[in-house]
Amino acid sequence: MQPTMKAPADLLLLPQWVVPVEPAGALADHAVVVQDGRILDVLPADAARARYDAAQTLSLPGQALIPGLVNLHGHAAMSLFRGIADDLPLMTWLYQRIWPAEKQHVSEAFVRDGTLLAAAEMLAGGITTCNDMYFFPQAAGEAFLQAGMRATLGLIVLEFPSAYASDADDYLSKGLALRDELKDEPLLSFTFAPHAPYTISDATFGRINTLAEQLGVPIHTHIHETADEIQDSLKQYGMRPLERLARLGLLGPNFIGVHAVHVNAAEIDLLAQHGCHVAHCSSSNLKLASGLAPVVELMQAGVNVGLGTDGAASNNRLDLFAEMRLAALLAKGVSGDAAALPAATVLKMATLDAARALNLDERVGSIVPGKRADLVAVDLRDLACQPVFDPVSHLVYVAGREHVTHVWVDGTLKLDNRRLVDLDPDDLTARAAYWRGKLTA
Ligand SMILES: [Zn+2]
Repeated sequence: MQPTMKAPADLLLLPQWVVPVEPAGALADHAVVVQDGRILDVLPADAARARYDAAQTLSLPGQALIPGLVNLHGHAAMSLFRGIADDLPLMTWLYQRIWPAEKQHVSEAFVRDGTLLAAAEMLAGGITTCNDMYFFPQAAGEAFLQAGMRATLGLIVLEFPSAYASDADDYLSKGLALRDELKDEPLLSFTFAPHAPYTISDATFGRINTLAEQLGVPIHTHIHETADEIQDSLKQYGMRPLERLARLGLLGPNFIGVHAVHVNAAEIDLLAQHGCHVAHCSSSNLKLASGLAPVVELMQAGVNVGLGTDGAASNNRLDLFAEMRLAALLAKGVSGDAAALPAATVLKMATLDAARALNLDERVGSIVPGKRADLVAVDLRDLACQPVFDPVSHLVYVAGREHVTHVWVDGTLKLDNRRLVDLDPDDLTARAAYWRGKLTA
């Protein structure tokens, strides 16, 4: 009798647990099979060994295999501003420290180096996709491609001039040209990224809205971050920022509002009715003393909420493990309900829900056959992780990014036993020192 032919595969991963996010929970003694950069199969380990002839097999004892984390909001290049201006409220921080430093120093080279540094930090911490917003998105795109990380590039728009562009029209035309050039890169996607209602005119918002509808590109903007922003809008426009955006027709399933800290019950309903998404960045909101977003109320109303780190100048770490734990603890503390944001929900916010906001949930965000193989192995053998009753609970309440050992993007290994495959830490450290020198000269 002929032996049964086994099916070919590139990679067979045998972790202790697969945590697929879809469905919730952990699968013990299961395998994930990868072929041509995508997830081919998820099945019991014994069946996988019998069915597949893999070019490479990797046993991951004591490890949980999770989908790559999706960072729903950041400014990667600002990693070069990490720690440059701490312990200040948002408007002082932004107007007196960050914007002057950006005006003087931000260039293509700055953005490339800062984005590489951020990509290295994110990949090593299990983040395989990020939603970025910064000047010179072309340089950021090149850095993300060099790092082999999945990224959504924000086509940034402001009314005022910078080293990157002279006015809103110039920002938009540069952004559109960049999208035309890079839209076939499989790891890259795009959003329109008007910075915030207080830096964008009605006319520019209108133009962005028309373009976003024509091109099917999401809109990604900071919204209701501080109480001052709302007071200023009432003075200037006679209405709160979200009402202004609603009247301009911007709210819809393609709208990602970052922060949504100061939203009242009517505004929560407004976001829910329009199918908007919210990027929740609790470390940044706490550090700038902006307040606490009503995450439980937003989610109960039906708003899709993902987690973001924001930039390293206001966090100061690009660490979604830290954000998961903080978001869960804050939600419980604020609501007085220990059942608020359970571990599985928070893990979903940091993966599938963030992917959904970016319109990437058909490609990433969960370990499901057919999706791209963006995968992260988390080692729970550490003494500080013992014993393991529930790996999902441990991923949120116990483990940290230091427990990430292996990372794949599109089926390609990016972190091998805690070592970055494509990026040189010494080179990145030297570049960071170079920019620190320039920023403090
Ligand atoms: Zn931000």
